Amino acid sequence: MPTQAMIDVRAVSKRFGGMTAVDDVSLAVQRGTIAGLIGPNGAGKSTLFNIIAGVVKPSSGEVSLRGAPVHHEPAHRRMRHGLGRTFQIPRPFAGMTVLENVLTAATQQSGERLFANFLPGRRIEIEERHNADKAMALLEFVTLAKLANAPARELSGGQRKLLELARVLMADPEIILLDEPAAGVNPALIEVIIERIADINRRGVTFLIIEHNMGLVARLCREVFVMAQGRLIAHGAPADVVRDAGVIEAYLGGSAV
Ligand code: ADP
Ligand code: MG
Repeated sequence: MPTQAMIDVRAVSKRFGGMTAVDDVSLAVQRGTIAGLIGPNGAGKSTLFNIIAGVVKPSSGEVSLRGAPVHHEPAHRRMRHGLGRTFQIPRPFAGMTVLENVLTAATQQSGERLFANFLPGRRIEIEERHNADKAMALLEFVTLAKLANAPARELSGGQRKLLELARVLMADPEIILLDEPAAGVNPALIEVIIERIADINRRGVTFLIIEHNMGLVARLCREVFVMAQGRLIAHGAPADVVRDAGVIEAYLGGSAV
């Protein structure tokens, strides 16, 4: 089967004022794989994610999703290329229930479209029913079904990460960017997160995951990209990059300051 880059980042740079947050980074993630993106804090990982997602405009370089150039397209258009993403710090709508939070991520909501007035009420009803069923099934999948009617503010850090995952799955993405899915999550829930990512990947979804938890990275990722000070300094199998002298140096350098 021919390989296809689902995410293709070419020579991307991003400057904030005089500071280069992402410096000439090129990387590709092949269809159906799970790739990791690691590196010390401030390396430019989240900025690169924001560039892929279209939230941050690169100073130079190109981004393609499923072979289509998207660097001129705004974030909401990139969903049409099958892209979904989570945030490093999830901010659910605190006053809404867990289920309502998942429902806000539903696409194709006829009821909220301008021309919905011209659609038969029955059709809107069917669509809403479908979305509610799907949202409940996803909450079941991420082990949050019991909390469906609880306000989102009551969720722990780990449960918020799981809620993010359910929200992103509402749009049936083919490519998912996860920013630190295990950060601040207790070991039992990390296990759930790892298993769910593996499940979703088995259905063909491609992942790029920023994560400091090397246990998660080693179990899920075939290939890992390492960034430090904006640059891509290494890539390869998890077991190899952690032994790379340049990578060890970058982490030690980062923690010594
Ligand atoms: P990482 O996710 O690897 O920890 P980030 O991409 O968040 O790194 O940040 C890389 C660098 O870019 C940091 O020095 C950060 O302060 C800077 N940076 C990120 N976003 C902005 C912004 N919107 N404005 C100015 N500087 C930023
Ligand atoms: Mg970050």
